Amino acid sequence: MAANFTSLLVGYVVGGVASSVSLAIDGDRVVVIDPGMVAQRGLLSGAVAAAGFSTSEVTDVVVTHLHLDHTMNVGLFDRAIVHDFMASYHDDIWENHPIDRFELSPSIYALATPGHTREDISIFVETEEGLVVCSHLWWSKKGPLQDPYSFDHTVLEASRARVLALDPYLIVPGHGEPFLTGELDLA
Ligand SMILES: [Zn+2]
Ligand SMILES: [Zn+2]
Repeated sequence: MAANFTSLLVGYVVGGVASSVSLAIDGDRVVVIDPGMVAQRGLLSGAVAAAGFSTSEVTDVVVTHLHLDHTMNVGLFDRAIVHDFMASYHDDIWENHPIDRFELSPSIYALATPGHTREDISIFVETEEGLVVCSHLWWSKKGPLQDPYSFDHTVLEASRARVLALDPYLIVPGHGEPFLTGELDLA
């Protein structure tokens, strides 16, 4: 069975900073991706409610990396297991998971894709329409082509290639609207 994917909030970096926030549902797993900075916290809980869930019904939260603009609101989901690049955290339990790839559910998994930071992961959601990826390897469809915060552009390009090799049809960038992979300006 494929997962369902919903874009909850579209991120931006002009006139403020907000993270793109997404929701993936796979069986009994309700997964929020990158609950970071938003204009008001109520926007986030409201978007989750509009998708049919209370914040307490969210089972998992996963962050693409550790910058606070993508992690600020993890605590809003009081019962969720929180996942980052190296571990899963729930109440006072810290469980390390594999670094290169880990699965959140049968149709949702994460791959290590360093480039923006050393701790970046990209989250893949297998839907009926095809593969969706949430990744900070792209800020938005319009760029920047070269991430000004990247520690190593060669590493970042290798991670972009790793993601694109899996042929996702939709990319949810860190701070912009989801876009079709074919719209990516690779020039
Ligand atoms: Zn960042
Ligand atoms: Zn960011």
